[in-house]
Amino acid sequence: MVKKTFVIKMGFFRVIDKGQGITRLFIGGVHGKEGLTTIKAMKELSNDDVMEGKLVIYNCPESHYISTLDPLYYQSKIGNEILHLINYYKPDIYIEPHCYKNESYKKLIDLDRMKRAGVPPLIELECGVLIGSVSPQIRTTLFKREDVCITLEMPCSPSEKSLHIYIKFLKIAAGSRNRSELEARLNQLYPDQIKRARRYAREFFGDYPPF
Ligand SMILES: [Zn+2]
Repeated sequence: MVKKTFVIKMGFFRVIDKGQGITRLFIGGVHGKEGLTTIKAMKELSNDDVMEGKLVIYNCPESHYISTLDPLYYQSKIGNEILHLINYYKPDIYIEPHCYKNESYKKLIDLDRMKRAGVPPLIELECGVLIGSVSPQIRTTLFKREDVCITLEMPCSPSEKSLHIYIKFLKIAAGSRNRSELEARLNQLYPDQIKRARRYAREFFGDYPPF
């Protein structure tokens, strides 16, 4: 008889707890094979990146690809787990690291994305690293207006430079003590992009902060 070995692909979960302060939740690789890329950045986050408060990191195992803009996503097993994690930790800062195929780049930053996909385009920070809001399916229902919610994207086969920028972004979010500190640090690095993010948030959500 041939014995089969089943490998259960587990997610990567880590909590860094520095006592009093805000809670940050980073959930990477939420669909398809994206977790194979996002883990490269998630595992770089260390104890030293968090000054106070909590950082919860979850990098998802491989799953069936469903867009997070699709309401069915949050009914899937992995989508449900994400809802559960958000409800459980109630993060003040929520970051969702993704990756994209090179052929999707134009579609993601397309200024007509609003007309085509019903959501604002992503904004390029540099080297193919993009930011935007998280799915409207969860932004206004699970989070408070003043919470920070950011989708972070880079190519699924990132250059060293792109990966570096992406990790740097995560470390800035991990090290910020509140929204205004995070905004100030990002504004210093990417003033034009933050201005655009602010405009998109206003147009899309109304009286909302940029992320
Ligand atoms: Zn994605």
